[in-house]
Amino acid sequence: NSTPTATPKAKKSRPKDIDVLGILNSKTDEKPLINVAVVGHVDAGKSTLMGHLLCLLGHVSKKELHKNKTESQKLGKGSFAYAWVLDETGEERERGVTIDVAQTKFQTSKKTVNLLDAPGHKDFVPNMISGASQADVAILVVDSTPGGFEAGFEQGGQTREHVVLVRALGVQTLIVAVNKMENVGWRRKRYDHISSELGVFLKSVGFKNNELIFIPVSGLEGENLMEKCQNPALTEWYSGGSLVDVIDSLDPPKRCYDRPFRLVVTDVFKHPQMGLSVAGKVDSGFLIVGTPVVVMPGGTTAMVKSMTTVDDKCVDYSVAGEQCILVVGGTDQTKIHNGNVICESHSRVRTTLKFKARVLVFNIDIPITKGFPIDLHYQTVNEPAVISRLISTHSKSNGQVLKAKPRCLTKNQVALVEIKCERAICLELFKDSKSLGRITCRYGGNTIAAGMVIEIT
Ligand code: GDP
Repeated sequence: NSTPTATPKAKKSRPKDIDVLGILNSKTDEKPLINVAVVGHVDAGKSTLMGHLLCLLGHVSKKELHKNKTESQKLGKGSFAYAWVLDETGEERERGVTIDVAQTKFQTSKKTVNLLDAPGHKDFVPNMISGASQADVAILVVDSTPGGFEAGFEQGGQTREHVVLVRALGVQTLIVAVNKMENVGWRRKRYDHISSELGVFLKSVGFKNNELIFIPVSGLEGENLMEKCQNPALTEWYSGGSLVDVIDSLDPPKRCYDRPFRLVVTDVFKHPQMGLSVAGKVDSGFLIVGTPVVVMPGGTTAMVKSMTTVDDKCVDYSVAGEQCILVVGGTDQTKIHNGNVICESHSRVRTTLKFKARVLVFNIDIPITKGFPIDLHYQTVNEPAVISRLISTHSKSNGQVLKAKPRCLTKNQVALVEIKCERAICLELFKDSKSLGRITCRYGGNTIAAGMVIEIT
């Protein structure tokens, strides 16, 4: 599925009749793709950790790293050399090929990893939602330095908000990278303290023991990222694997290849050679070049002329779980927008103005009442909406109804609500689509609730 041919124009026939399901079933030896979001408080060391990992995996040339090191030293920020590795993808974004969240693909011995780097700053929460809503697994980076962990974990820090969000967005597996461990002499006591404090909180938001993996690392020194750390200060008490070992040991996510094709649009741009291009993630099903499609909710029809992967390889088809760029004809840029869903015309995604969702209310100051205005985030976009009905509140542990028709919702409650949008949006039930069935509600720049679509009216 990856012939690096030069231009799609060179293709003579449309490969409409490829037996994609047959190919997928026969490709048992291919490395499974896993989408990973990296979250955590600003300065926890996310960029450094992932940048260093990419260097260790051989994704960064010596020349490039040397250039980063010299330039960052000139600015007196020598330690940023690794973090800048990821910023390279920022340039790609300017060229218009990637999406909101910087993306990098890398290979381990058992997996193809698509990394979604989510910025940690508070202002970037909408981007973080977009990253996390595409993720199968999240890596939560926490700073183990005295005061560092506490700053990220206490009120105002982003650790809690990010964790609650990734859970509400349906991420099932969380790898907690306890970072900067060289700063605390790889001390077990500090690691255990952080793991237990975080563990209590992670379980309170719904993660089970078998969905949590803790791992001590140093992003700056590159310890325990790819190879198992050999430092006796760590090996005397830690017998688990490196970050890459942990990633390799994860079960591959289940992909819905046999469900109808859905691609959620994350970027629309004019490629200088190819023309009108649409980037996004295939949520379910597959699509072959040459297939007529429809863009929902607008209903515009278009033809897929060619397709490339995010790393610019021409492909004949794309399947669930992959990020891809479609070059489309028969329509124009004004008719396709971020958050639109591309489908085959005979099996369109549902569009609606009103739906019911089960949400978790976050740490809010003002109670949510009927008619509460929100910014509704789903997939990668947001729309003005209102919480039009408060239907019931529920127990967190067993989901039983606690109160019907509550007058208001306060922090940490689980509730069934009805949400009404100003414009039609594309949604699926959470039970049918983990990503198209997730929503988050924001108000005044804060995330106030997140949850799953239960009923589409
Ligand atoms: P981000 O905001 O989470 O992406 O954090 P950065 O990767 O930009 O790192 C923030 C600061 O922490 C920088 O000064 C890094 O050099 C430093 N840092 C990152 N990882 C480590 C580590 O493992 N050990 C130490 N001592 N410092 C680190």
